[in-house]
Amino acid sequence: MTKAEEMLDIMLDFSKERDCLLGVCGAEPVEGAAFRVGGRKPPFASRPIDERLDPQLYLKGAKSVLAIGVPFGESLLPASDGGRTGYVCSMASGEDYHGRVKGMLTELRDMLLEKHGFRSIILVDSGALLEKEWAVKAGLGFWGKNCIVVSPGKGSFFNIGLMLLDAAVKNRHAISGGISCGSCRRCIDACPTGALSGDGYILDYSRCLSYLTQKKTLDEEEEEMLGGHLYGCDECQRACPWNKPGSTWVEKAKAAHVSLEWVSRMGEEEFEMTFKRTSAGWRGIETLRRSAWSMLKR
Ligand code: SF4
Ligand code: SF4
Repeated sequence: MTKAEEMLDIMLDFSKERDCLLGVCGAEPVEGAAFRVGGRKPPFASRPIDERLDPQLYLKGAKSVLAIGVPFGESLLPASDGGRTGYVCSMASGEDYHGRVKGMLTELRDMLLEKHGFRSIILVDSGALLEKEWAVKAGLGFWGKNCIVVSPGKGSFFNIGLMLLDAAVKNRHAISGGISCGSCRRCIDACPTGALSGDGYILDYSRCLSYLTQKKTLDEEEEEMLGGHLYGCDECQRACPWNKPGSTWVEKAKAAHVSLEWVSRMGEEEFEMTFKRTSAGWRGIETLRRSAWSMLKR
């Protein structure tokens, strides 16, 4: 068995044991990525697009990119016991995924290093490479019209983490080759703000609730667009037929409905005990309070 084959076997065993998606591909830049990202770059993506496409900028001599997809964690937020509620999307209501995904990749890297030497770098939402592009290239799923990676086996409720390696490893088979959205447009029709329009595949971040609920200041029109969304939005994923009701990863991906009254008056200590532990915590208490007040005044 070659070094590459042995490494691939360790990776595949790990993904089975840890119930995550895993794929690995060559590190040549992804074709067509600049088009999919479109002219509208979210302000959180601080680096220029072309700097986010080339693994060599992050690991000189990179030969492979490994991508994993880890299901969302269960909600840590207290359910409302009455009154008006705000929606916290399923990605954000559970334990902060950055540490969880990075921990898994570190564990896998250590297992690989016990057998073979290589250099690597782990990237989880670090603002560096475009994770979704690499997840598709590595074979985790296909590009949905909602601009989210859809796995034919698991759906789309998962977080992505990447490891760049200077060892050449590749999938033995294409994991999801040939599958696409076809004529479906359920996500486009389900989007409450028109952030997905036309034939999909391009997202207008300035209208997307995932972006708006994280934005520090909102104008009147943007406040109106929040509807009942306190943080994030799942509508285009819930509408997707690949997220089959009853399947394990979809069942895990529970959104939270929290009391707006509670959030609007939440103190630092309560924030630390609740939101700060989740993926909705990074933007801080003020943004959450602001959104809660915006909704309560309407
Ligand atoms: S997350 Fe919500 S607002 Fe954004 S594209 Fe999907 S449905 Fe539309
Ligand atoms: S809802 Fe339909 S069009 Fe949208 S991502 Fe899912 S399969 Fe594709």
